[in-house]
Amino acid sequence: MAKEVVPRTIVASIRNQRQVQPDLDPLGFAASKLWNIARWTCDRIWNETGLIPEDSDLKSYLKSHERYADLHSQSSQRVLEELAEAFKGWYTKRRNGGQKANPPAYRKHNNDHPRSTITFKGAGFKVDTKYGRIRLSKGRNLKEYWSDFILCDIQTRPDIDLDDVKSVQQVRAVWNDSKDEWELHLVCNIEVDAPDTPGGKTVGVDLGINNFAALAYEDGEAELYPLNCLKQDDYYFSKRIARCDESSSEQATRLNAKKSNRRTHYFHVLSKHIVQRCVEEDVGTIAIGDLGGIREDEDSEVKDWGKHGNLDLHSWAFDRFTNLLEYKANVEGISVDRVSERGTSKSCSCCVRERKSNRVERGLYVCDECDMVANADVNGAENIRQKVSPSLTRGGRDRSNGWLAQPSTYLFDSESGCFAPREQVLS
Ligand SMILES: [Zn+2]
Repeated sequence: MAKEVVPRTIVASIRNQRQVQPDLDPLGFAASKLWNIARWTCDRIWNETGLIPEDSDLKSYLKSHERYADLHSQSSQRVLEELAEAFKGWYTKRRNGGQKANPPAYRKHNNDHPRSTITFKGAGFKVDTKYGRIRLSKGRNLKEYWSDFILCDIQTRPDIDLDDVKSVQQVRAVWNDSKDEWELHLVCNIEVDAPDTPGGKTVGVDLGINNFAALAYEDGEAELYPLNCLKQDDYYFSKRIARCDESSSEQATRLNAKKSNRRTHYFHVLSKHIVQRCVEEDVGTIAIGDLGGIREDEDSEVKDWGKHGNLDLHSWAFDRFTNLLEYKANVEGISVDRVSERGTSKSCSCCVRERKSNRVERGLYVCDECDMVANADVNGAENIRQKVSPSLTRGGRDRSNGWLAQPSTYLFDSESGCFAPREQVLS
């Protein structure tokens, strides 16, 4: 699988919290002290000039201020930038009519300075991902008290591998009020597995009662997924449920649950199998008939979703399957387009004619206009596919090879839980 570098913020807890807290606390207090001094400076400049200073002005005013050196210079700069950004956010809100918006507030906590977030940039930090350590620089004023640096042993969530960290842009020390401890936020680029780029081809999927799914690929290959196993399953369970009398209704409930679980399992395996086939065939877009649209249009063509033999497959089952397929396809970067099924079972996918005389005989679609004979479900799937990608060879396809008439059939083997192609019988 290809690798891709993406920006992320990794939250890390500090394992040696008790050792580093006495060092981080004064930095947090210093950050809020500096904020408040800058905030007061803004007020003063505003009163004299009617303007709020930019962050560059604040930096040059305050860089010689005694408190500026409590933090590493780049951390102090960041405090002033954040204040300037907060003022800009306030202007924007006021310009957009937010009269209730308040200017950035002073940072106070019971007449004391609270623990503000401290940002470490550039030379202000050093990350050792191999040993899970981060070294944070103090300001000049605070160095003499203890040591020059704060060395934090960090721990990240188990699913995050620090080896994947390519570069760290900044480290933010954030006080977590609910845990009553400091944590570090690493703003970084990490390497992740990139989903393989999907192909550009299309496939049409027609869902139905006889073949649960018929697939027509862009290059003319076609596949059928008959409902054989679900029918056998339903027949078996219906018989057993019918034999349950009132006294064993609990047993009937259990059997119904089992039947439903097996159907869900079938849907999962089939959707996974279809997505796998799409990956193999370089498919980037799956067009699938939107059954919701059909139910609204009673006059057009309404499939009989009611009882079919022993199988009670209702439209919700198709919706559920489509959702599963969409979810699994999206994971592979393949998109799923739901298209209206209107006209897709009646017209010829080859010459695109819809004629009254065209008919379905024993599952085969026969076109009077162009003499095409195709599996009816595959013809429907090809019409669905053409709704997202009109075939360039439309109407001019070589029909002599019977490309739609001889689809591969995949049968579900409940023992192995897989779909396997049935040996093709050529007539
Ligand atoms: Zn035709």
